[in-house]
Amino acid sequence: MINRYTVIGQPIAHSLSPVVHQLFGDLTQRKVKYTRTEATPETFESIVLDWQRSGAKGCNITAPFKELAVTVCQRMAPNAKRAGSVNTIEMHRDGALVGHNTDGAGLVADIVVNKRRVLQDSRILLLGAGGAARGVIAPLLDAGPTMLHVANRTSAKADTLASLFSDMGPVSASGYEALGDMAAFDVMINATSLSLNGEMPPLPNGLVGSQTLAYDMTYAKQDTVFMSWSRSRGADTSSGLGMLVEQAAESFFIWEGVRPKTRMVYPRLRELLS
Ligand code: NDP
Repeated sequence: MINRYTVIGQPIAHSLSPVVHQLFGDLTQRKVKYTRTEATPETFESIVLDWQRSGAKGCNITAPFKELAVTVCQRMAPNAKRAGSVNTIEMHRDGALVGHNTDGAGLVADIVVNKRRVLQDSRILLLGAGGAARGVIAPLLDAGPTMLHVANRTSAKADTLASLFSDMGPVSASGYEALGDMAAFDVMINATSLSLNGEMPPLPNGLVGSQTLAYDMTYAKQDTVFMSWSRSRGADTSSGLGMLVEQAAESFFIWEGVRPKTRMVYPRLRELLS
């Protein structure tokens, strides 16, 4: 029997998730078929329910539906509940739709395991306060930083996120203008969608130094403007390709009960991106 999955978003044609999950299936000798599905805010719920009725085992949710996906789930894993954001739906045998968020686990795995960065006692700057930022705050705080500062164009959204997670650790918030007074960070994560348009947030020079890992959640063929800007100021840089792969591995584990060896898929993905 083939287990069927899809990724639902808008736009969706660019998504590499089908390639990643087919590779995971091959590596773990599981028969899986993984497709892409385009939705609109109006069709999203019926698409998810039709997918479930067709006998599929789950789906991933990507922008802009991660927050909307919370409303279709009957049960939520703690990480998704706290974030108010779902990127993985498990279509449970008992008929329930169970929401999970694997973005944060994926990001932390990429930074800590693949990039060998220590987050314990580090200073982290998170740029952006959208769906992606929501999903990663709890796992970042779990890693034990001394400071996690969220900066966003709409500073009220950053404030909301900081108060939502304030019981979990040292999280603060501001707009971009307040960053001028801050010392360099150990890890700076771009969770805005600006890189998709070849832009970057308005950042002062002093935020990065040779100790900084500048991590852009966006992945593309070339370095993003954010990565180039950071590297020219001495920082180490990374795209979000590793986050994509590691969050997918967490989803695969939820659905199939087996954890794929992620390092095996990177050469193929880099080939596809180039
Ligand atoms: P959202 O649309 O939910 O959030 C967008 C964010 O970008 C908001 O903080 C928004 O600020 C900010 N932004 C947009 N335009 C501007 C602008 N002109 N100036 C300043 N800030 C701006 O998107 P997501 O959070 O879902 O995704 C963000 C990025 O992360 C995307 O590029 C996505 O592809 C990537 N991503 C990558 C993943 C991976 O696995 N590698 C996983 C998830 C996401 P404001 O609130 O003020 O509007």
